[in-house]
Amino acid sequence: ESSDVEETVRRILKSHPNVKAILRYWGIEGEYRRPRIEVLWGATPDSIVYCEYGVEFELDPASLMFCLGNKFERIRTAAMVRSWEVVVDMFAGVGQFSIPIAYHARPKKIHAIEINPDAYGFLVKNIERNRVSEIVVPHLGDCREVAKQIGQVADRVIMGYLHNTVSFLPYALDTLSSAGGIIHLHSLAVRGREGELAAKAISTAERLGYKARLLGQRVIKSYSPSKLHVAIELFAIKQ
Ligand code: SAM
Repeated sequence: ESSDVEETVRRILKSHPNVKAILRYWGIEGEYRRPRIEVLWGATPDSIVYCEYGVEFELDPASLMFCLGNKFERIRTAAMVRSWEVVVDMFAGVGQFSIPIAYHARPKKIHAIEINPDAYGFLVKNIERNRVSEIVVPHLGDCREVAKQIGQVADRVIMGYLHNTVSFLPYALDTLSSAGGIIHLHSLAVRGREGELAAKAISTAERLGYKARLLGQRVIKSYSPSKLHVAIELFAIKQ
């Protein structure tokens, strides 16, 4: 294995002689979704800039997650947003959804909420870097608290978090405007049981006095041998 790694490092240095460091990515762990990174060559950089469909994301590769497998979902989501919308991004990270939505769809407002101060710092930088500060309002805190302060303003809510996401759904519903709105709910699902998420989300919404209809669902990527990353879109309105 170690000679394979050495060979890979040699190949990268040959084809990209100006690289400052080569990092190995082992995956993501914990509530804050921190990646495990190994420096194979050079010094650990404080931050890297990653470009995707015209948008630039600055992040600390050693402590913040950025999932390349969600690339298509980010642009697909941005393409759905209309210019008159108010969007709430409950798990904003470094701006993975908020920045491309702001940049490509230019909605009225995006409330981007992030609990981890390090990720929040990069969220603020990425808002400036992509010149979307008139659209994206960053909030540092727990989305369950911040959602209450934002009030009933949302036409669309993005829930880009994979752990027990349905437990956050009541707070997402709370932010919807009186005309209702669309909730993008991401979650892990056991392979073969992907359909259960929509049923659970709809029954949660109905129990809280909302009418909810499934607009779409898809598998984003394989997460582990037994689990999939899935996303659903629900239209919900208070009855
Ligand atoms: N939404 C982006 C995506 O899907 O690519 C980034 C998501 S990252 C998986 C999830 C982010 O949610 C992390 O940055 C984490 O710190 C944040 N987070 C976790 N619990 C939170 C909470 N209760 N309120 C706000 N942010 C939270």
